[in-house]
Amino acid sequence: MPSYLEDAYKRTSDLVETERFKHEKAGKPLGCGRGCSACCHQSVRCLPAEVDLLLSLDMDIDYNKLSKQVNDRHPDMTCVFLTDNECSVYEHRPLVCRAFIGMPGSELCLTKKSQAFIPSAAKKLINKLMDTHGKVLLHRSLYYKGREAVDRNS
Ligand code: SF4
Repeated sequence: MPSYLEDAYKRTSDLVETERFKHEKAGKPLGCGRGCSACCHQSVRCLPAEVDLLLSLDMDIDYNKLSKQVNDRHPDMTCVFLTDNECSVYEHRPLVCRAFIGMPGSELCLTKKSQAFIPSAAKKLINKLMDTHGKVLLHRSLYYKGREAVDRNS
């Protein structure tokens, strides 16, 4: 993993923890936690290096599903890495997945996007990295890069 990514994961985790603490102190704890996958049903932007990292894990990827999600307005954008309502690549999930947080009530994240947000400091960090290293849509890039590799090796 590139060191800038490792550093960004650490900094994002610290920023999210700070936000969590702030909300708890204000008596409005965040709603994120194990078993909630409300933010895993939409198009995800990430860095090209994050796609490479996910592909390097050599997991079984449902390219059939991804082929439909190449159009990011497909009605079912459920992430290919979501298994039994949990992220199967949690330790390696993209920055945006790490930074996206929501208020209690996962249904609010699904129906009212305003209930979920990326803390402003984390947003600044992610935008800066994307300006420097580029940005791609996770599903689309996984499909094209992953399929290419599969075709090359077959
Ligand atoms: S990579 Fe994991 S956290 Fe991110 S959208 Fe997919 S399942 Fe959710």
